[in-house]
Amino acid sequence: MSEIKICIVGSKGRMGQAIAEQATEAGHQVVSKVDIGDDIAAGVATADCVIDFSFHSATESVFEAAAANGTAIVCGTTGHSQEERKRLEAIASGTPTIWAGNFSIGVNLLCYLVEKAAAALPLDYNAEIVEMHHRLKKDAPSGTALMLAESVLGSRGLSHQDLRHGREGVVGERTQREVGMHSLRGGDVVGDHTVIFSELGERLELTHKASDRTIFARGAVRAAAWLVGKKPGLYSIREALGLE
Ligand code: NAD
Repeated sequence: MSEIKICIVGSKGRMGQAIAEQATEAGHQVVSKVDIGDDIAAGVATADCVIDFSFHSATESVFEAAAANGTAIVCGTTGHSQEERKRLEAIASGTPTIWAGNFSIGVNLLCYLVEKAAAALPLDYNAEIVEMHHRLKKDAPSGTALMLAESVLGSRGLSHQDLRHGREGVVGERTQREVGMHSLRGGDVVGDHTVIFSELGERLELTHKASDRTIFARGAVRAAAWLVGKKPGLYSIREALGLE
């Protein structure tokens, strides 16, 4: 794999630091580091790829600067609204881009397994998604929980309106279509995700537990090296990780 030049956005954060380590270990060059207050356009100017793990409100300016420069984008930032996502996808189609809520091989395989289970099981097998993260996480549900939700919705012909974010009070009986989403926060949990399919008399649970954020950083660097040199457009993380 040839050496690439990387710009890290969110460089002072937990992920930004892990990415710098993994990029160097893989033999790539970190040519610029951008965090709050730094000039993004200057940061991407000399890079082959920008790797952004920062904050949802920063993503649009990162995408615009990269697209204007023809720089590839690997984005792991989560917490965007549906409107933000639409605008970002439009910009991303103009430059090679991979945007994923999770860059680990295990979680991307889990999404594949969840798609198969959701398609094979009837709606009587009620789907609920539970995630837990460290107490400093700012957005909920996690980007990974949303990836898993997409896997269930897509396989069952459901839509985002079928997602049920938590329950409180006299909410009535569960409908068959709804997909429950539940976020737990505390301590230093790197990321736990479980998708539950419950029917009368049995329950299937598919779980992934991350214990070290290096797995995300390694996947993001691998995705960047795969992406540089590709034609403009949105590529899937599964393709980049060799899972398809
Ligand atoms: P963090 O809070 O430790 O770091 C975020 C960094 O971004 C901070 O240094 C902050 O100063 C910086 N930042 C904020 N606004 C910025 C701006 N406008 N311009 C430049 N930098 C800015 O958070 P983290 O744990 O490193 O996570 C960062 C993001 O990555 C979150 O959205 C998180 O959910 C996501 N994440 C994704 C994956 C994945 O695999 N896709 C894995 C882990 C975390």
